[in-house]
Amino acid sequence: MLVSGRDYPRDWNQFLDWFADEAACLSYLEQLRWPEGFVCPRCGDASEPYRSSRGRLMCRVCRYQCTVTAGTVFDKTRTPLRTWLAAAWYLTNQKYGVSALGLQRVLGLGSYQTSWAMLHRFRRAMVRPGREPLTGKVEVDESYVGMRDSSKLLAGARLKNHTSRSLVAIAVEMQQPKGFGRIRLRRVPVDSERYLLPFVRDAVEPGTRVHTDGSAAYRSLSEQGYVHQRSVHLGSDGPAHVSMPGVHRLASLLKRWLLGTHQGAVQPAQLDYYLDEFTFRFNRRTSRSRGLLFYRLLEQAVVTQPVTYQRIVARRA
Ligand SMILES: [Zn+2]
Repeated sequence: MLVSGRDYPRDWNQFLDWFADEAACLSYLEQLRWPEGFVCPRCGDASEPYRSSRGRLMCRVCRYQCTVTAGTVFDKTRTPLRTWLAAAWYLTNQKYGVSALGLQRVLGLGSYQTSWAMLHRFRRAMVRPGREPLTGKVEVDESYVGMRDSSKLLAGARLKNHTSRSLVAIAVEMQQPKGFGRIRLRRVPVDSERYLLPFVRDAVEPGTRVHTDGSAAYRSLSEQGYVHQRSVHLGSDGPAHVSMPGVHRLASLLKRWLLGTHQGAVQPAQLDYYLDEFTFRFNRRTSRSRGLLFYRLLEQAVVTQPVTYQRIVARRA
């Protein structure tokens, strides 16, 4: 059981107390990375390592040297860890998250690129590997979301009003008598069985009651072991928000979030990572403490593979 004030800071004042310098940040991340104590990444030895003054750890058995941040999203960063942790705090304490411009301003970062890349590295830590598939009663549908291409902004220019649309598959657990459970989102190229069936199989536990519209893309769900409920809309007199309120509501929350928090300035090729962030926030929306989200994000960040700036930017389409 994680405790506020012991496992993560209770508030911003305590954050400032705990993370006064780089050494304090390093030791916090070390605890998250090796909760049972240091384990040598090469030989697996678990004895207390030798420590150098520069924060390097050396295995007593095989002499392998590493750092707490090597092999994590913080690998080779030139940004102070204190700034990283403050970014994680800000990102998780804002109910709807933060745009790259907003983070740059609040942390006084030197460049938009730094801010943008930090947020993208954190987004890569927002998908928990091996998470449990959706169960119970699940609605599945697709929706188009519109975006403005922000690559001009990255290049230092003003945001152009260049819009594009992407199709997003949505699955949401419907609770009785009302309310939502967890969600899954995925960008798909077209609304065909080829993409939607794998989405359902990855997102939803077999045996679950799956509610879709009459689309042929979902015709083999029963054969796949799902209890398939279809709502066929006839012309304009069967609006989707009546028969499938869950996915309809989710789609509008997602669009509002992309337009509001991110001013729609999401590059289509980066959309997957924004969907991960939206899912991370939505599935933890009832968390009793924002500090717990801070903890979860950093916990995942220290087990998430590093990604270079070039690779993040290369996703630009
Ligand atoms: Zn070793």
